[in-house]
Amino acid sequence: MKKILTSAICAIVLLNVSAQNIQLPQWTVGDYTLTLLSEGQQKGNTSILLHADGDILAKYAPDGSFPNAVNCFLITTKTGRTILVDAGFGRKLFENLVSLNVKPENIDVVLLTHMHGDHIGGLIKDGQATFPKAQVFIAKAEFDYWSKQNNPLVKTVLATYKKQIKTFVPDEIGAPTAKKLIGDCPEIKAIAAYGHTPGHSMFLIDAGEKPLLIWGDLTHAMAVQMPHPEISVTYDVDPETAVQSRLKVLDYAAKNTLTIAGMHIAWPAVGTIEKTGKQSFKFINKQENMKEVCQFLNDCGMYYIATLDDNNQPRVRPFGTATIFEDKLYIQTGKKKNVAKQMLKNPKVEICAHNIPAGKWLRIEAEVVEDDRVEAKEFVLNQYPSLKSIYDARDNNTLVLYLKNVTATYASFSEEPKVVKW
Ligand SMILES: [Zn+2]
Repeated sequence: MKKILTSAICAIVLLNVSAQNIQLPQWTVGDYTLTLLSEGQQKGNTSILLHADGDILAKYAPDGSFPNAVNCFLITTKTGRTILVDAGFGRKLFENLVSLNVKPENIDVVLLTHMHGDHIGGLIKDGQATFPKAQVFIAKAEFDYWSKQNNPLVKTVLATYKKQIKTFVPDEIGAPTAKKLIGDCPEIKAIAAYGHTPGHSMFLIDAGEKPLLIWGDLTHAMAVQMPHPEISVTYDVDPETAVQSRLKVLDYAAKNTLTIAGMHIAWPAVGTIEKTGKQSFKFINKQENMKEVCQFLNDCGMYYIATLDDNNQPRVRPFGTATIFEDKLYIQTGKKKNVAKQMLKNPKVEICAHNIPAGKWLRIEAEVVEDDRVEAKEFVLNQYPSLKSIYDARDNNTLVLYLKNVTATYASFSEEPKVVKW
């Protein structure tokens, strides 16, 4: 078995793999829940990029690497379906499933985006089928291509799952379809994105307010391929077709505000796409949104925060602190101030900041949550040395709060408002 695994196609150059031991992120799409099953976070090497010139690399991957991951996903439904989308290498897959109380025999469907080793490795363990009760869905073009290849892992998978494999023909993105992939999950649709491999497919959960597209290996180097989707990777079977697929899908995802999830997008691997130029895009996730908001507040130097006093009278005053600690945006004040008393009594606040030179302003609707830990206070005060002459993390006066249920709206006289939420 070891021989088979080592000969599997390793689609990513591993520079540094660090295990993640934090709770697995989840998203709700209508009646479906998607969970990230990360096989590991790593860095990809720019040597895999095709036709990336020096200027592009200097700008988007200056140290010769880019953030990367190997992911698979679990979809669970209210009707009791447990669907695995790709199986990764099988490195952390089983421990991730255990943490979700999912036994391998509970998986009743496996959807495969394609048959590279970092997507099918987890289907085999000790020479046996890992998911004995699962139907395994593969695009017909993918099945036909790999059936003719002499790849030991693929051969083992195809032979082991022979009776469980079902092939499908994916639809074009945006095309209306009545096809049902899984009988009682009509919202799950297979969409073609050929090029990386001849039958490379994506899976769309067309439910809820924002459909979610699991796009497999549409990208491998987000930092470079979002601004430059014309760049392919050395292990794309047909790089030209891969570029065409990438452009088409990115355009559609941006226009239709799809949520997207990718097999090689760094933690937490899910976000949205914004079109920034004719053929350039930006990937947005919560962390990025938060960073942008924090940067905006700091660029302004001063922002205003409104609270309600005991007589329901709005009160507004200037603030200057905004920093990110443990993935949360923090502000700081003194407990003795009225603003502190008001926020502790009624956590709803509104923040407004105006960047006059840029001609843009930002309004943030949020709730504040007190964090009484010394380490949080120390972190925030350390970002603002001038505050250290007034406050100390242990002075019983310093109050740090983080924002939750945030709706931040960027506005200007010339552009459409842009709203981000976390
Ligand atoms: Zn891959």
